Amino acid sequence: MKPIPFNKPFIIGHELSYIADAVAQGHLSGDGSYTKLCHRWFEEKLGVRRALLTHSCTAALEMSAIMCNLQPGDEVILPSYTFVSTANAFALRGAVMVFVDIRPDTLNIDEKLIETAITRRTRAIVPVHYAGVPCEMDSIMDIAQRHNLLVVEDAAQALLSTYKGRALGSIGNFGCLSFHETKNIISGEGGALLVNDERYIKRAEIIREKGTNRSQFFRGEVDKYTWVDIGSSYLPSELVSAFLYAQLEQADKITAKRRHICISYSSQLAPLQQSGKLRLPTFDKYSNGHMFYIILDSQDARARLITYLKAQGISPVFHYVPLHSSPAGLKYGRTGSTMAVTEDLSERLLRLPLHYEMSDDDIAKVSTAIRDFFAHSNS
Ligand SMILES: *Cc1c(COP(=O)(O)O)cnc(C)c1O
Repeated sequence: MKPIPFNKPFIIGHELSYIADAVAQGHLSGDGSYTKLCHRWFEEKLGVRRALLTHSCTAALEMSAIMCNLQPGDEVILPSYTFVSTANAFALRGAVMVFVDIRPDTLNIDEKLIETAITRRTRAIVPVHYAGVPCEMDSIMDIAQRHNLLVVEDAAQALLSTYKGRALGSIGNFGCLSFHETKNIISGEGGALLVNDERYIKRAEIIREKGTNRSQFFRGEVDKYTWVDIGSSYLPSELVSAFLYAQLEQADKITAKRRHICISYSSQLAPLQQSGKLRLPTFDKYSNGHMFYIILDSQDARARLITYLKAQGISPVFHYVPLHSSPAGLKYGRTGSTMAVTEDLSERLLRLPLHYEMSDDDIAKVSTAIRDFFAHSNS
């Protein structure tokens, strides 16, 4: 049987010809014509004040952390069930990570637990829209406002999902996107910082340009550019932006395909949920089809299912090792609530293959293999 990989990078439109065009234009460093096209696309499509391409979502999170002006000992509230970059970006500034448990239904930060984790030192909340499903942003923004905290949305998985009509990544002070090859829209490595709070636009541009006011210089707002703040080099090359722009042109088609895959998995696996063998994810017509996972009864059942699927050339994956119990999490953070849901679900969740070029036949094969596993096992 043809193997079914977990993920597969793809091209869908003009990626290669746009790269050739960027070369022909003779501008390969950052902020050339393709980067500007991408910026405008995000600003118009997501309704954000300013979009800035970065090397990665990690880089966008780091820029956000710099703008939070964290002092050593300041605290940041975030879920433990997330990718390491969500925490690392803030730990790099000397802040203490305060991990809060997730909701059992969406696996997003449990907004009801945030307020008790707030102390005098809390400066920011970092909600992660897991699987492209929105966090409860109304409650989170309300808590942030009452306690004077910044909100950085980790929207790495959430491009083109919405919450009450608003794009994810456009609601907090900052939003961070990823175009890593495992995300919906890809450029190999890549990301964007969405600056929704006007007060931070100028500083974001400076931090991204090695701490210089070069962006203002190019707009003719200052007559020379110089070192004005701390910063680093966060802007991608035009080669990356050219590839990304070609993907953005097809973004709706990519989202529709991924949603189709999620809906197909859901309907083919529904009988197993009805008979109590596994649990399926919650998603609605406003989510972007980023991920399809199943939740098994036990860690042991998950291990046996992985072995069973791999023997048939199907590659599922699981994640995350909860950050609060990881070596760096213990060193740079503490828990701000019990971690019962995180500890339980992280041991039982399994992600199924999901990528743009998957066929209906592939989806049927994976679903059939999972149904066969339960038919032949007594779990
Ligand atoms: C992928 C991901 C990141 C990191 O994205 P990069 O672009 O690889 O830096 C951060 N947070 C979450 C939740 C992710 O899924």
